[in-house]
Amino acid sequence: LHSPELRIAPLTHQIDNQPPPLAGFNAWKADPILRTAVTREGGAWIEAQAEALAYLIGGETMQESARLANEHPPELFTHDRQGHRIDQVRYHPAYHELMRTAFGAGLHALAWTAHQPGAFVARAALNYLWNQCENGTACPVTMTFASVPVLRHVPDLGAVWLPRILNSAYDPADLPVERKQGATVGMAMTEKQGGSDLRANTTQARADSGNRHLLTGHKWFCSVPMSDAFLTLAQRPEGLSCFFVPRILPDGKRNRIFIQRLKNKLGNRSNASAEIEYERAQGWLVGEPGRGIPTLIEMAHLTRFDIVVAVAGTMRAALTHAMHHARHRSAFGRKLAEQPLMRNVLADLALESRAATQMAFRLAGAFDRANDNEEEQALARLLTPIAKYWLCKRLPAFVAETLECLGGNGYVEDWPLARLYREAPLNGVWEGSGNVICLDVFRALEKAPGLLDAYWREIDPAAQKVPALATAVADLRRLLQDRPGEDQARRVTEQLALLMQGALLVLHDEAHAAEAFIRSRLRDEGGRAFGTLDSGADLGRLIEGSFEF
Ligand SMILES: Cc1cc2nc3c(=O)[nH]c(=O)nc-3n(C[C@H](O)[C@H](O)[C@H](O)COP(=O)(O)OP(=O)(O)OC[C@H]3O[C@@H](n4cnc5c(N)ncnc54)[C@H](O)[C@@H]3O)c2cc1C
Repeated sequence: LHSPELRIAPLTHQIDNQPPPLAGFNAWKADPILRTAVTREGGAWIEAQAEALAYLIGGETMQESARLANEHPPELFTHDRQGHRIDQVRYHPAYHELMRTAFGAGLHALAWTAHQPGAFVARAALNYLWNQCENGTACPVTMTFASVPVLRHVPDLGAVWLPRILNSAYDPADLPVERKQGATVGMAMTEKQGGSDLRANTTQARADSGNRHLLTGHKWFCSVPMSDAFLTLAQRPEGLSCFFVPRILPDGKRNRIFIQRLKNKLGNRSNASAEIEYERAQGWLVGEPGRGIPTLIEMAHLTRFDIVVAVAGTMRAALTHAMHHARHRSAFGRKLAEQPLMRNVLADLALESRAATQMAFRLAGAFDRANDNEEEQALARLLTPIAKYWLCKRLPAFVAETLECLGGNGYVEDWPLARLYREAPLNGVWEGSGNVICLDVFRALEKAPGLLDAYWREIDPAAQKVPALATAVADLRRLLQDRPGEDQARRVTEQLALLMQGALLVLHDEAHAAEAFIRSRLRDEGGRAFGTLDSGADLGRLIEGSFEF
């Protein structure tokens, strides 16, 4: 009665059966699936750094920064008080703290700077962990990471920009790049009249002096508008071309890029996404004139890869919150995690997350080995859109189910699942929406049928071991032989994804997990909710085998 709380709270106010905060949790040490996949694919050397990052992001300070950066979204200041244009987006200090941590850990650069086998896998491990902390800052990380190969093709720009881009420093100052420690790069492609069909771009580039052009037009979506430069598509007489447009010019003046407004987004709120206008903005031609889209293809390939890893990480975050809640909350006389039907839900979610992680890290390994191995190059090309499509399709349903595990708390903004739920559909929209990605799979198969050989070579050893997988493989081969039309692109891509996930589980995971996956995902015909594994599934091993608390 003398405790301070009881003196100020009504006597009815007793807190019971509410799970403790999930703090001090190490998402690396607790994740045997991740650690095994990273080791298998050659990235085990990242262990100490991954453990340290996981420790940071599992701590209350970083979780609070993630919350604050999303609850206090960026604000646009177009003018100063005297009426001069300033085009500044101002962020909550928590956003800058997150950016400093992410860029400081080399999340945007490690794959290029590590110079040792497994660099893509190791960086993917950090990215997977980061997406368990805050997703908005993953956008500048990914775009900056993916800009590197483009800039490597342009020696004079690369000489100035790459040392800053590759540096493990976050430097938000409005200064010419020569005077900065670090630099970030954004992308300005989408216009009002078309995002998937970029050929519809109307922004014009007029030759000015040497390689320099003056760009005039609008961009309907431009995320991270405080980036130091934007890879931009604009029309030249030869057709759509790629330009590098710095925000601050070498003489310290602002380039003529005007931010019209910020998008009021469903989620991803810590990250600003703007509508911008170029009015004779200075941009330097990158690649050949008229070859803008091919110039940016490599970048798009890398951003899609990053999304695959980010989605797998986000699934794991949602699963962790659901597991934590179920282990601490009781209903009807026992912990939720002990209720048979909740165990089916948790096991099914754990299985989905496991299959996503296996696919993401197999893909990361393929990127690592692609330079000197044609098979791996082919696999990276084909598996990127396959995995991007399927994991992005699964994420919203996955997060919704984990949210439901928390009951009413899951729907309240005080818990992180509400934020993850609003975040979930975005990955399926940007960097190629679902249909566009599936059509890319078809285009790739049509242009280079050899890609499919690399895919089958990965699957076949697993199909030889598991008759049910072999049957599904035979069905898909038949479907492909009939040269299905565009309207079948989702059906085919989904099946390509499921077979790959099944095969990876057979080859690299425990037999019971592979069996449960194949029985539930490859034999059933659609329409399933999570929590519908059949009675042969080993729920205990699926749940407990996914976490080392
Ligand atoms: C939060 C956010 C941030 C973004 N940031 C950036 C950024 O920084 N830079 C940038 O350039 N863009 C950015 N975008 C834009 C994004 O890349 C586009 O929205 C996306 O590419 C889709 O383009 P669209 O909106 O014009 O839709 P549309 O191209 O009109 O597509 C609408 C739908 O039609 C489907 N579709 C298109 N073509 C076909 C077809 N042939 N057959 C069947 N279906 C088809 C698509 O899959 C989609 O589902 C951002 C978007 C969001 C939501």
